[in-house]
Amino acid sequence: MIATENVNPAEIHKFGSLADSWWNPNGAFKTLHAVNPLRMQFIRAHASLPGCRILDVGCGGGILSEALAEAGGEVLGIDLAPELVAVATRHAEAGNLNLRYRSLSVEALADEVPGQFDVVTCMEMLEHVPRPESVVNAVARLVRPGGWVFFSTLNRHPRAWLLAVVAAEYVLNMIPKGTHDYNTFIRPSELTAWARTADLTLRDMAGVSYNPLTRQFSLGGDTGVNYLAAFMRTGD
Ligand code: SAH
Repeated sequence: MIATENVNPAEIHKFGSLADSWWNPNGAFKTLHAVNPLRMQFIRAHASLPGCRILDVGCGGGILSEALAEAGGEVLGIDLAPELVAVATRHAEAGNLNLRYRSLSVEALADEVPGQFDVVTCMEMLEHVPRPESVVNAVARLVRPGGWVFFSTLNRHPRAWLLAVVAAEYVLNMIPKGTHDYNTFIRPSELTAWARTADLTLRDMAGVSYNPLTRQFSLGGDTGVNYLAAFMRTGD
């Protein structure tokens, strides 16, 4: 299953064991369902998706992958949890989408088909791998020059500990307890530096905020907790 050392098997097991509830909009991954329209809004503000070759790295059960395919993309989703690839494949069979899934690492895929994608997305995954900079590097190898890369992750900022761990996991029951470890969170400056080393140029960043009173997510300038970043592949 695992063709990379850049994986934490406990993380794969944690997500894989929740595979059956992936598509329940009120289940363990309800927060991913809730933020997905905002992620699509952010992506579409930069990239035109119809006819695009799109790679979704760490796709899980396919919430973002399906939306990208519905928007007209030709999508490949990859994840190292085979249970999730199975759930994603089964779910996609219901629709008539240009979408397929594989269980392999992003590093292995970068060796196989470098420069083959117009758009690469990698959402809520970097904070779950031992060496996120290796993922950033592989993603940069997979996108063509002039193509777009979109990441989202959690900021290693005290407010992210308070809101994304304490509040979201223990008070508001928004995500399963134990989902996140504050020490693995990534500052925007760290992500941007890894990206720059890999010829990815930052074009935009947005924060994802949650209002517990209205239970609504919104995009804005506050990147202190959860944030989205858009990069363009520069170089030859
Ligand atoms: N990107 C999806 C799922 C996020 S959950 C979304 O935002 O909707 C994190 C996912 O990362 C899980 O599906 C987990 O299996 C996957 N993952 C963790 N480590 C990985 C690795 N090294 N390679 C590929 N996928 C990984």
